Amino acid sequence: MIKYNLQCDCNAEFESWFSSSSEYDILSKKKLITCIYCDSTNVKKSLMKPNITSKSNSSLTQNKEQRNLKKQLINIRKYIEKNCKNVGKDFSHEARNIHYDKKSLQGIYGQATPEETSELLDEGIEVATIPWIDKTEN
Ligand SMILES: [Zn+2]
Repeated sequence: MIKYNLQCDCNAEFESWFSSSSEYDILSKKKLITCIYCDSTNVKKSLMKPNITSKSNSSLTQNKEQRNLKKQLINIRKYIEKNCKNVGKDFSHEARNIHYDKKSLQGIYGQATPEETSELLDEGIEVATIPWIDKTEN
């Protein structure tokens, strides 16, 4: 079933249900759609409804993409927590130790200020910044 907003020559607007868009086309061609107010057959589809529908569809798609992105970030967080050592605020210190002393091949993660991060990058130490998503959030 498909619902159309119909508009008559008399400026009246009303809604009508059709089994499909092709049924509407056939009835319209045969002048079988009549205005419920003046019985005129000069009734046309109003273009308002489809616009509203496509708008809400695109925002639904956007929400879905945002949820997928969040899921990916949570997975990245889980992977890092499982495979790397949390050094917290000592991150830039520990990153230098690993880089210069080569004492550990284990990855680390923790917090660093943007200044610390850019210093590390200047020294040729590989650092990646990722958004840290709250796992408990829905
Ligand atoms: Zn009418």
